[in-house]
Amino acid sequence: MRRIAVIGGGIAGLSAAWSLEKARRAGQEIEYRLYESADRLGGVIRSETVEGCVVEGGPDSFLTEKPAAARLCRELGLADQLLASNDSERRTYIVVRNRLIPLPDGLMFMVPTKLLPTALTPLFSWGTKLRMAREYLFPPEPARGDESVAAMTRRHFGQETVERLVSPLLSGVYGGDASQLSVRAVLPRMVTMEQEHRSLTRAMLAARKRMPSGAKAGSRPAMFTTLRDGMSQMVDAVAERLQLGWVHLRTPVHALARADDGVWSVTTHAGTGRFDGVILALPAWASAHLVREVDVRLGDALAGVPYSSSITVTLGYERAALSRLPVGFGYLVPVTEGRAMLACTFVHAKFAGRTPADRGVLRCFLGGAGKDELLDESDARLTEIVLGELQAILGLAATPRFVRLERSRHAMAQYGVGHLERTQRVREALTALPGLALAGNAYEGIGVPDCIRTGQQAAEAVLAAGTQRSAPAYAG
Ligand SMILES: Cc1cc2nc3c(=O)[nH]c(=O)nc-3n(C[C@H](O)[C@H](O)[C@H](O)COP(=O)(O)OP(=O)(O)OC[C@H]3O[C@@H](n4cnc5c(N)ncnc54)[C@H](O)[C@@H]3O)c2cc1C
Repeated sequence: MRRIAVIGGGIAGLSAAWSLEKARRAGQEIEYRLYESADRLGGVIRSETVEGCVVEGGPDSFLTEKPAAARLCRELGLADQLLASNDSERRTYIVVRNRLIPLPDGLMFMVPTKLLPTALTPLFSWGTKLRMAREYLFPPEPARGDESVAAMTRRHFGQETVERLVSPLLSGVYGGDASQLSVRAVLPRMVTMEQEHRSLTRAMLAARKRMPSGAKAGSRPAMFTTLRDGMSQMVDAVAERLQLGWVHLRTPVHALARADDGVWSVTTHAGTGRFDGVILALPAWASAHLVREVDVRLGDALAGVPYSSSITVTLGYERAALSRLPVGFGYLVPVTEGRAMLACTFVHAKFAGRTPADRGVLRCFLGGAGKDELLDESDARLTEIVLGELQAILGLAATPRFVRLERSRHAMAQYGVGHLERTQRVREALTALPGLALAGNAYEGIGVPDCIRTGQQAAEAVLAAGTQRSAPAYAG
C-alpha cells in the first residue's frame, strides 16, 4: 500500500486529494492523508449566503477558457450548478478623477484593435493615442531578457497606458504591481506576439483576423463561470467524496523530513506519519518553511516568491439604491487615483441569479502589493473607507443592509521579473526529491483553474514516482 500526504486543504490540495481518491477507487493500492491547519477546507475560497445573496470572501468565479475548474465541477456532479457571467452586460470602467470611463471596445489584453473606439475614448490623451498609432508603424526594439509588464507596455504605448490601463487591470486581477510583475510569466502571449510581429497592435490585429467570425460577433463562451450558490460548492463536493477519517482539520504540519531510503516523515501535533509521497499544496512561503530542512536551495527558491494580501468588502443593498449604477461588471481604480480600493464588482450584474431581484451587491477589493498595512485596520475603519470611496466614485450614499469583510493575508503569489527562472530552479530541485510535488498558485498561474490543474499534476507525479517500496504504517 502506497501512502501519500497532501499538505494544505485549499482548492489545490483538494484537487490533488480528489485525484488520489479517484486512483484509489480505480483500484490502485494507495492511502492518502490530507492535513489542513484551519478548521475548514477551501483555503481562500469562502462563500456564504446573506439575505439570499451569495457573498464570496475569496474568488468569485474562474476564467471559462481555462477548462480545469469546470471539468472538475462536472466530474463532481455540479454541471447544473455552473453559471456563466452575464456577458451581454460585460463592461469594465476605469476611474479617472472620480469619473467612470469605459474601457474602449476592441481592447485585447492591453492593446487597442479598433480605431474608432480608441480614437474617441477619453481614457487616453491625444499624445497616447498618437503613440498607439505610431506603434503599428514603428514598433520598439524587443527587450533582451525578462522585464516587467509596465516596462513592456511603456516601450510600446507609453506611461499613460501603464497608469490608466495595465496597472489597474493587474492590480484588480493579481493584487499585483505592474512594475514588478514579469511579462514572461504573466502575459507570455504578449512576448510571443512581440517576437513574431514586433508591433503588438499588428499582432493583435492579425489574431483578430484569425478569430472565427462567430467569436468576433460575440458568440464566444462567457468570460467567467461560477457556481450558483458559491465557489465553496466545489470545495464541499470534493470534501464529501474523500475518505472521512483521512482528512485532518486543525492539523498544521510542523516539519517534513526525508530519510535515506526515500521515505518521508510528516510531523503534526498528533505525531509523525511516514509516507511514500508528499504533495505540498501551500503558499510558497509555507512550503519553503517545511522543505528547508530537506533541501536548502529549494527552500530558498520558494521563499523568494513574493505574496500580496487583500481584503474583500462585500456590501448588500436594496436594488433600488443602486439604480444609478452604469451598466457593467464594475470598475478598476488606478493607483494614481490615490484610493484604497483597487476594484469594485457589481455582483448582481456580473451573474444573474446570485442575488434576489430586489437586492444588489457590490464587492470591493482592497490591498494588493505593498499595501499590507491596510489589513491591520479595523473592520469599522475599512467599511468607512469603502463607503466614502463609493460615495465619491459612484455618488452612492445609501446605507448597506449588510457588510461582510474578509482578509486574505499573503495569499496571492506575485510572479515578479525572473519568475520563470525561479520555477525552473524549483523543478530542478524536485527531480532530486522523488515523491515530492508542489501545487498551488505560486508556479504556473494564480487562478482557481491553474491551482486545480497543479493539484492534479502533483497527484499524477507522486503516483508516477511510485516505487514498489511501501512506507511503514502511519504513526501519527
Ligand atoms: C481575495 C481573492 C480573490 C480571488 N479571486 C479569484 C477569482 O475571482 N478567480 C480566480 O480564478 N482566482 C482568484 N483568486 C486566486 C485563487 O483563489 C487562489 O490562487 C487559489 O484559490 C489558491 O488555492 P491554493 O489551494 O493554492 O491555496 P490556499 O487557498 O491558500 O490554500 C492553502 C491551504 O494551506 C493551509 N496551510 C497553510 N500552512 C499549512 C500547514 N503548515 N499545514 C497544513 N495546512 C496549511 C491553509 O490554511 C490553506 O487552507 C483570488 C484570491 C484571493 C485571495
